[in-house]
Amino acid sequence: MKETLAEKKKRLRVIFLRLRKAYPDIRCALHFRTPWELLVATVLSAQCTDKLVNRVTPALLKKYPNMSAFAAAAPEAVEKAVRSTGFYRNKTRNILGAAKAILERFGGKVPARMEDLITIPGVGRKTANVILGNAFGIPGISVDTHMIRINRLLKVTRHTDPVKIEFDLMRLVSEKDWTLYSHLIIHHGRVRCFARRPDCWHCEVQDLCPSAYKAALP
Ligand code: SF4
Repeated sequence: MKETLAEKKKRLRVIFLRLRKAYPDIRCALHFRTPWELLVATVLSAQCTDKLVNRVTPALLKKYPNMSAFAAAAPEAVEKAVRSTGFYRNKTRNILGAAKAILERFGGKVPARMEDLITIPGVGRKTANVILGNAFGIPGISVDTHMIRINRLLKVTRHTDPVKIEFDLMRLVSEKDWTLYSHLIIHHGRVRCFARRPDCWHCEVQDLCPSAYKAALP
């Protein structure tokens, strides 16, 4: 029998509570002190581990301590500083473009509204939600590859498009939990529900997951 919306919500609530119990200290893994620093770190984290980003940002932010310093920076020098994170030309272009756009259009302050954030170079809904949720305390669902894969395995969405998944989850998860839900699922993808071979045998939500023991590749 088809699961109703209410039943799905209830199941996802239990999944959320179990994961929260399993990973009690989980929070944004990127190091930052200000919304601008989080924006820089989030841009650098594309296709790169948070650990590596955290190794790169201290020296980068020492050399370019604020948005104006980035706006005035020579692209080649920034490219060199972020090279190890991969896709360094694109990332540099986005960071320098974001610094200029925020200085010009938002008086040098990272805006705290989705509709403004997504007009900034390099900032899509995923990055905007990371900034809103972690720098401003405004709930946001950030959909990365773990979120796509695991929410599909949990059968709480049938979509592959991150924006459609975000909107599905907004209907199912309490708004106050959007940011934490994203952290928990992403962490679950890193330590348990691996892409190639999910560890269903030890999974905290195995009895609530329709894909348990079916998702592992041979
Ligand atoms: S039961 Fe398996 S497929 Fe489902 S969430 Fe857990 S590890 Fe992933």
